[in-house]
Amino acid sequence: MRITHVESFRVPLPGPRPPFVWRRGLLGSAPDGEAAVLRIGTDEGVSGVALATRPGMAVVVEDLVDRVLREELVGTDPLQREYLWHRIWEIDRTEELPLPALGLVDIALWDLAGRLHGRPTWQLLGGFRDKIAAYASTVTFRDVAEYLDVATQCLELGYQAIKVHAWGDVRADTELAHRLRAHVGDDVPLMYDGSAGFDLPDAIRVGHALADAGFLWYEEPMREFNVNAYQRLAQTVDIPLLVAETSDGAHMNTADFIVAGVATFGVRASASTRGGITGALRTAHLAEAFRTRAEVLGDEIPSQHLSMAIPNTTFFESLITANPVVKKPEIGSDGYLHAPLDPGIALPAALDYPAALHAYVESNI
Ligand SMILES: [Mg+2]
Repeated sequence: MRITHVESFRVPLPGPRPPFVWRRGLLGSAPDGEAAVLRIGTDEGVSGVALATRPGMAVVVEDLVDRVLREELVGTDPLQREYLWHRIWEIDRTEELPLPALGLVDIALWDLAGRLHGRPTWQLLGGFRDKIAAYASTVTFRDVAEYLDVATQCLELGYQAIKVHAWGDVRADTELAHRLRAHVGDDVPLMYDGSAGFDLPDAIRVGHALADAGFLWYEEPMREFNVNAYQRLAQTVDIPLLVAETSDGAHMNTADFIVAGVATFGVRASASTRGGITGALRTAHLAEAFRTRAEVLGDEIPSQHLSMAIPNTTFFESLITANPVVKKPEIGSDGYLHAPLDPGIALPAALDYPAALHAYVESNI
C-alpha cells in the first residue's frame, strides 16, 4: 500500500456560544473561524483524516501540504508510521512547526490504520479499558459564587472530579481553592490549572494554598521553558505537579521534567502537543517507567482513543465552557467517557465537511 494523495481542506469552525474567557492576560475563546482537515489517501482506497482546530492552522496546514508534506509522503507506505514520525521531526528542524502541526500526519495515519482494519484506533494501540471517569474542566468564570454554582451542576451531571482554570491572581485563586473545597467536601477530587500564569514566587504561594485545600494536582503554573524553575517549585511545595503540557519535543523533552524530579503527579500526554498519537504513547510509556502518570489532555477526539489505551492516566478531561453547564455529548449520565466503537479516530460533528470527506467521517458522527 502506498500513499497516493495528501490534501488539506478548510472547514468552517464555529466559535463557542457563548464565548468564554481564560485567566487574565490570555486570549479568550476564538470567534467563528476555519479548521484544517488533513486527508491522506492510498492506492488501496483507504484514507485517514486529522483535524487541526487552533486558530490559523487552516492556512498553516494548507501551506505545509503544498510546499512540503505532499512531496514527502506520496509514494511511502502509510503503515510505516515510525519512519514518517521521524521524518516530521527532521522537517521540523528547519520549519519549526507549530506544536499541533507536529502530530497531524501521525493522527491521520492512525486513523487510516483503524479504518483499514475496521477497528477503533484505541484497539490498535492496545486497549487498556473501555471507559474512564471524566472530570469537568472549567473555563474562567466571573467570581467564586459562579464557580460554586458550576461545581454543583457538574457533580449533579455525573462528573467525577473538577478542575478549575482560575484568574491567575494569587489571593483570588487561593480563596477560590479553599471555598471550592469547603463547598464540595473532602471526597471530590479537585485540580487547579495555572495556565502558566505565574512566576516562581507566586507559583509557590498558590502551591501552598492548593496543598492546604487538599487538591489532587497543580498543573502548569509557569511557562515550561525552564525546568530549573519547576525543580525549585517541586522542592518547595507539597502539592503534586502535573507538567510538560506545552513544551516542545514530545517524550524527549518530557524526560527532562521527569528526571529533574518535577513530575510529582505526572506529565501531559496528547496527540496535539506531543507529536501525534505516536508521541503521546511514547510519553505515556516513558512516564510509566518512572511510575508516574501521563494525564491525557483535553477533549479532542484523539484524546478519547488515548484515554482507552494509556494505563497511567486517571481521568478524561471534559471542558465546561458555559453556565448553565452543558455536559458534552460523549460523556454518559454515569460521568464516564465510553470507548468509541467506529473504525479509526473520527472527526467531530457540526463541521461543514467538504463532500470528499463524507465517506470517511460520516460513519463516526
Ligand atoms: Mg492545562
